[in-house]
Order: sequence, then structure tokens, then C-alpha cells
Amino acid sequence: MVSDPPYRGRLAPSPTGYPHLGHARTFWTAQQRAQAAGGALVLRNEDLDAARIRADFTAAMLEDLRWFGLNWQEGPDVGGPYGPYNQSERRTHYVAAIEQLRASGAVYSCRCSRRDVHEAAGAPHEAPPGEAWAPDEPLYPGTCRPPLRDGLAPGASLEPRAGTNWRFRVPDGAVLAFTDGRYGPQTATTGVHFGDFIVWRKDDMPAYQLACVVDDAAMRITEVVRGADLLLSTFRQLLLYHALGLTPPAFFHCPLVTDDHGVRLAKRHDPLSLRAFRAAGRTPEEIRQQFLTAGRAD
Ligand code: GLU
Repeated sequence: MVSDPPYRGRLAPSPTGYPHLGHARTFWTAQQRAQAAGGALVLRNEDLDAARIRADFTAAMLEDLRWFGLNWQEGPDVGGPYGPYNQSERRTHYVAAIEQLRASGAVYSCRCSRRDVHEAAGAPHEAPPGEAWAPDEPLYPGTCRPPLRDGLAPGASLEPRAGTNWRFRVPDGAVLAFTDGRYGPQTATTGVHFGDFIVWRKDDMPAYQLACVVDDAAMRITEVVRGADLLLSTFRQLLLYHALGLTPPAFFHCPLVTDDHGVRLAKRHDPLSLRAFRAAGRTPEEIRQQFLTAGRAD
């Protein structure tokens, strides 16, 4: 009999600001699920976005999360067998993955600017008729997408990797499905909910979708617990797992925390940071208690 691998969960914060109540609530759920399964929790520092991160935020982030009561057994501050745990130190893993995707013809180079895509796709973006979800980014209109040859994308790219965006070619009109641990069966249609997406950026950095898949697989994560704002990204990532020949983890998406006016915390001008609560003399226990009554956007 083949037994399941031991549960491994992860916290994947980006040091772009101080952790707020939304992070705390999702991470608390991740910790509870890891503990209930008798498993391990990994902290991965998602510090790839040089324009948005600040070095001093990393230390503050770890300090605030520990203060709140989160404990990870592997991470940048404690080490572990699947390190390094700072994404900025994992470039060789990402380069290997993008080279694999280039060699198999799963990606193509794209010279469209963000503005080109916005203009061609047209705004605003609403949920298609009969669909619950709106696309989370403009659908790529296919300007740079090369034609399929005999049903297969052109093989090994000789183009240099740097200096251009690389997009993943999604199948046309495919209905994708997975079962979420919190929300149950989920489906999305390629070309309707999302289109060809960037996996490597023209500044020669991996995009979030690729780095996340490469790391969750390399760190042997068995369940990804994160906010429901990333449900559509999960479908993109499932396509990447498949293209890279990797086994996907299970997924559990958490409801997003809103403020008293129903505004998502991440979108607020002044997110309710743990640091601010702490300065105001609130205890972690009081904050956790508040989760039970706080507004939640499913
Ligand atoms: N660093 C990402 C964020 O903070 C993590 C997303 C994920 O959990 O996959 O949004």
C-alpha cells in the first residue's frame, strides 16, 4: 500500500508591507490545518519583486507573524532541508523551469507592453454572462502567439531568454477543474476567465505563477492554503504543474477579510496591520477572537 506523504503546508508572504489581518487569518488557517494533520509548516519569503519589496520589511514581517503566534519549522530564519527559503536566492530553480518550458514549446516570447494588452483587450472586465467570476487580468489577445504546427507549438526556442516577456500558451477553450478543500468543485474556462499568461518577465525575472509552482513542488508542499483572490491563479498553476511534469498539491482557499464597510483589506489605503494592533496594546488572542466576528467576503 502506498501511503500519502506527510502533510507539508506553507506560508508565502511578500515583504511589500506589514502583514495585516487578512494575512494573519489565512496564515492561522494554514497553521491549524498543518497542526491538525500532524505536519510541517514552511515559511517562504516571496521577495522577487525588487520594485515593491523592502529589505527591512522582511525582518518586520517575520517578527509580526511570530508575535501573532505563527510557528514554522522551515524558513529563511530557521533553515531546513528544502532551502533556500528566500525566493531571491532560488534563481537556478526558476531558470531550469523556464528552459524546460521553452524547449517544449509551451511558452512564447511576447513583446506587448501591459498597455498594449489593456488597450487591445478593452476595459472594463466583468464576469461573462452566466459566470460567477470576472477575469482577474485583461485576456491576452494573442498578438504574439505563434500558430500551432500540426497541433503542436513550435519546439525549442533559440531566442535569448532575457529582454522579452514569455507567455504560457493556454489550451483553447478548455474547461479546467479541481476540488478546493474549502469551496468544493471549481471550474474555469481558458480564454474566458484567463488567457495566455506571463511566466517570465522582460526584466529577466520569473513571474509569480512560475516561481510559486517551482517552489511549492521543490519544497514538497502537499496543501496550499491561501486567499480566495488566488483561485484563478490556481488554474494557471495547475497548467504549469502539468507542463513541467510535476504533481500538484491540494488547494484550500480562504475567504477574504473585509473591513466594516466590506472593503477588502488588501485594497484599503491603510490595511489593519498586526503592528498597529500590537502598538495599540491588543493581544494576539484578541485579534484571533475578532476573526470569528469580522466581516468576510467569500
Ligand atoms: N506572495 C504571494 C502573496 O502574498 C503568495 C501567494 C500564494 O500564497 O501563492 O500574495
